[in-house]
Parts: sequence; C-alpha cells; structure tokens
Amino acid sequence: MPELPHVSVAALMPAPPSHADRSEPTACLGLDLGGTKIEIAALDGEGRFLLRQRCDTPQGDYAATIESIAGLVEAADAQLGCRLPLGAAIPGSVSPVNGLIRNANSTVLNGQPLLHDLQQRLARPVRLHNDANCLAISEAVDGAGQGARVVFAVILGTGVGAGIAIDGVDWLGCNAVAGEWGHNPLPWPRSSAAWRELPGPRCWCGLQGCIETWLSGPGFAADHFAHTEQQRSAKDLIAAMRAGESAARASFIRYADRLARSLAQVINLLDPDVIVLGGGMSNVSELYDEVPQRWGAWVFSDTVRTRLLPARHGDSSGVRGAAWLWRDQVLSDTPLSAS
Ligand SMILES: [Zn+2]
Repeated sequence: MPELPHVSVAALMPAPPSHADRSEPTACLGLDLGGTKIEIAALDGEGRFLLRQRCDTPQGDYAATIESIAGLVEAADAQLGCRLPLGAAIPGSVSPVNGLIRNANSTVLNGQPLLHDLQQRLARPVRLHNDANCLAISEAVDGAGQGARVVFAVILGTGVGAGIAIDGVDWLGCNAVAGEWGHNPLPWPRSSAAWRELPGPRCWCGLQGCIETWLSGPGFAADHFAHTEQQRSAKDLIAAMRAGESAARASFIRYADRLARSLAQVINLLDPDVIVLGGGMSNVSELYDEVPQRWGAWVFSDTVRTRLLPARHGDSSGVRGAAWLWRDQVLSDTPLSAS
C-alpha cells in the first residue's frame, strides 16, 4: 500500500518507552468509514475494546468527512490520554499509481488524496485498507479464521467485496486488487426462464452481470422482483422464506446457488482453508448449509474441505481489522505518546 515516505511513526511520535518502562497498555486505533456511519475503536494487544464511538457520515461532503473523522480521533486521544497511529477501513482502495482513492461506492471519496489528507489533519501516521481486506484481517487474527493459513473474507451487503489474508496478514497483490471478486461475472450463468442470468443486470462499475449485482442485498431483492414483480427488501424475503412462502424460498435457493458457484471459482483459484462471510446477508444462517451442499458441483476436486463460516466479530470487523493494521507495531514496540 502506498504511504507517504516522509511520514513515519518515528517522525511523529516520541521515542517509545521500553517494555520495562511502559505504564500503559499497548493499543491500536481503528476506524471504519462506512456510507452511513463512521466508527472508531481502540483495541488492546489482546483484542479487547478500550473504547468505541460512532457518528453519522456526512453525505456527499469530503471536507466534512475529514472533520468528522478528526473529531472522533481527537475524542479518542482525550479518552485514552495518548495519541496512537490510525488504521482505517474504507470503501474502495488506494491506487498504487497516484495514491488517490478509487473504486469506492461512496463516490465522494474517489479521486481524493484521503491518506495524505488524514495524515496531515491528524498529524500522525495512517494506514488505509479496503473494508473487505479489514474484515479478512480481523477474522484471520482472532475471528472465525483464526489459525487458518488462507482466509477469503466476503462482504455481502449493499455491495459485494472480498479480501484475502494469508497467515493473518492481508494479501493486496501488485495492483492492490487481490480479492476484488465482486466485479467478476457470475460464473456458469444459466439463461433458462427459471434462472434468467444472461446478460445480467447492469453494474455501477460499467460492466454487466457482476457477482455484486446478484449477491448484494439489493441484488437479491432485484432478482426476486424480476421473477415475481414483488418489491420486497432482502430482510423481508428471508422472513417470508422462513415462514414457508414458496416464491421467497425459490429466490433464496437461486441466491444460495449463485453464491455457491461464485465461491467455487474462488476455491478453484485460491483454495482457502476458510471462507468468512460478513455484511447483512451473512446473517442468513441457512446459507451455511445450502452453499457447501452446492459448491462441490463446480469445485475441481473430489473433496471440499474449505469451511464456510459467519464472521465472528460481525459489524465490528471493520474497526477491528483497521486497528490490526498496526498490529505489527503493537506486537513489537508500539509507541504510546502523551497527548
Ligand atoms: Zn461491477
């Protein structure tokens, strides 16, 4: 990930105390920049929350977003009595070409030098990663994928994203797009009237039939509408499916089958030990039976040992993974400077 070369922990923080001198616990500060909420949390070295705060995300206003983040960080400094480096989970990612944000569905961030602006405004080192990468880190370090070598973590929410963690460290790739699976096409598409998967819905990214257009919560609802002309939310559809409504059940089975195909392609390429699901659709417990029953048909193997699990830390995975972006420092010599 590109970081400003002239800003470092050593430059901005007083020299760290030795372990013997340390009177306060080491800690990490993480921030989750979502489309509706911004959350900040501090974790101690054992992963326990030292504080959590949140505020609404200013809508469509980049400068106000920076100020809202600064307000949360300064309040955390005051509460902790020290100034910690910040990890942040963001929609989109930092371009390795120019350091600007790209691919964010919160489009006000796109094209902005967010890393530079946060480091300047907060006067401390900042690390930014995609929110799905932070989910992967969180779940690999002390979540559902703890102890697994390769974790593929998926967010099934208003959008679809994914990240990869190997031995507890996220794998970004040389273009910083590793795990960007939501904008691959739905694999093994079916054109029959029962499935209607070709050519697939238009995606905001400019392509058509992306996995995100099928597996996001809105994508699930849109598919139900396409088959029934009933406008219902994903949450209502799951409740109707559980109440025994056949059309809702059929929509859920199409969803589970598409998720199984999409994850089978991941298994064929990456062969992860654990696949962790986060985001709103990850709360649908029936997926953890339906999907593994189906994915074997497309995995090029006589067995599938990969485990499909819900995120252990749920909605907290963003802030936790963001905080763990500084875990290397906490596990070695994280400075805790006086404010
Ligand atoms: Zn797309």
